[in-house]
Amino acid sequence: QREPRVLIVDDDQDVVAQYSGHLRAAGFATDQLFSADDLVAKLDELHPDVLILDVHLPRVSGIDVCRALRNSDRWQLLPILIVTAQLDESTRLRAFRAGASDVVGKPILPEELLARVGVQEERLRLLRDRADRDGLSGLMLRRAFVESFRRALSGCSRDQKPLSLVLFDLDHFKKINDTHGHLAGDRVIVAFGELLRRRFRIEDLRARWGGEEFVLVFPGQGVEFAHRTARRLLAEFAEQQFTAEDGGTFRATFTAGVAGYPDDGISMSALIRRADEHLYAGKRAGRNTVQGSISPARATYDSYPAGPGPGPTKELR
Ligand code: GH3
Ligand code: MG
Ligand code: MG
Repeated sequence: QREPRVLIVDDDQDVVAQYSGHLRAAGFATDQLFSADDLVAKLDELHPDVLILDVHLPRVSGIDVCRALRNSDRWQLLPILIVTAQLDESTRLRAFRAGASDVVGKPILPEELLARVGVQEERLRLLRDRADRDGLSGLMLRRAFVESFRRALSGCSRDQKPLSLVLFDLDHFKKINDTHGHLAGDRVIVAFGELLRRRFRIEDLRARWGGEEFVLVFPGQGVEFAHRTARRLLAEFAEQQFTAEDGGTFRATFTAGVAGYPDDGISMSALIRRADEHLYAGKRAGRNTVQGSISPARATYDSYPAGPGPGPTKELR
């Protein structure tokens, strides 16, 4: 989302200005410190994606600073690039042993600076992405989703655009596990994740909300669109055939509830609650359906419950 941020700590102002110029030209945001005195406060404030740390600093060695940071839980993943005018073997060793992500000698070529910082930043992004993603479905986990949802909601409120949300819950999933095996149940979750990942725009948020519950958000789209899309997903999902642990085959369905901003609520929790109410109503109405408030005029044009699809196999009814 935001541009990657680099904090440069070096007592040589010319060096700092130089690094900063190259990094900014390459799309990084930069901040600077001329000593390590306020480093921790600055890290807390800025949350940089890469820290460039000179070895020769007033009062302390950058290598000791690096070691101290690594001893704190908060800064274990932070990429730290140590720069030193003295790139001998023992300095390199001490730097790596102190937890440096990379060590480079001064003076450093602009291209090399950008390459090394770029590698570190990308690695951090991959690590973060993995931590935010559910291993089974490949979708965002709840915590990351909540953050993205907040951003999307405030964007839509600022631009006076609608936003719609679909909450999904797989039907009789306990029974699927019991009847066809837990691994087969896992495959259903994988398949549903794939279905959500394969299509949609990047800005449409897709997450595993919990166990067999998922959530989909369409920034800029109203509830009619969400209904139509959820029903299409249901038809497609219900057609998929899964293999049970005993070799037999089965199908699965879901029930979904739709809610829209601003009509159903203006906060994330209100919208989720509303979608959940509709979902629950759908469960009571027999499952395999998409529910939610739609204006009567639209409802006839776009009537629900769910479109065609084979529905659950007999033993699951
Ligand atoms: P309903 O149609 O009313 O939603 O019934 P249900 O059985 O789907 O609902 P319930 O909430 O009672 O059960 C959900 C089940 O989903 C229980 C849990 O063991 C299973 N489950 C949750 N996460 C996973 C998972 O990652 N893998 C598998 N195989 N099962 C899971
Ligand atoms: Mg559930
Ligand atoms: Mg369920």
